[in-house]
Amino acid sequence: MFRPNLTFSFLITILIVGYPFTLYPQIVQHLKKVIIIDPGHGGIDSGTTGVNRIVEKDVVFKIAKKMVYYNRYFPNNAFEIYLTRSTDTLISLCDRVNLINKLNADLFISLHVNHSANHSVKGIEVYITESDSQHANEAIFLAYSLQKALSKNIGYESRGVKFANFQVLRGTIDQVPSVLIELGYLSNQDEAMFMDKEENIQAIALTILQSLKHYKMVEINPQ
Ligand SMILES: [Zn+2]
Repeated sequence: MFRPNLTFSFLITILIVGYPFTLYPQIVQHLKKVIIIDPGHGGIDSGTTGVNRIVEKDVVFKIAKKMVYYNRYFPNNAFEIYLTRSTDTLISLCDRVNLINKLNADLFISLHVNHSANHSVKGIEVYITESDSQHANEAIFLAYSLQKALSKNIGYESRGVKFANFQVLRGTIDQVPSVLIELGYLSNQDEAMFMDKEENIQAIALTILQSLKHYKMVEINPQ
């Protein structure tokens, strides 16, 4: 069972109050990072379907849109966030990857939810590629930050940070740190029901944003 440990208002408060660079708008502008959020699947590709009939492409798109929305709560907007798709449409992997160069992006995060034939399997996994890259260490750091925050704030069972040869990660890691999050299992009754509630979608979006803020704080190098 999920037991969210933080209320939305508290999450919003720590997002805003905990952001230490809001007093220096010029620095904020200088440091603002471009983040691409990739809601997996879309269009004719629905991804996995939950035991309650909700579908992966809709769940991850809702989370991505909420991230864009909550990013506005940061003074001066914390990040520039772009989605690989703005509607329920299927975007090719090539186009998803090309967006990185077009936008001169700093980070790429692909959002998915999982499925298992064993309906008792549940929890969150964050994937990074096995490919060697100058961005590998940052990707590993980000993956662990996301895993920890989503487990702590949302109550996800942690299934670990894993290496995988996913095409979307292979295709992006040479340009930016990239991770793929599997946000629970739609084949599990508890997690499918959890994902069907708007307030939980909001909490997941806020928690991912919060994790990115932490990543940014560690990586910044003010001039
Ligand atoms: Zn997927």
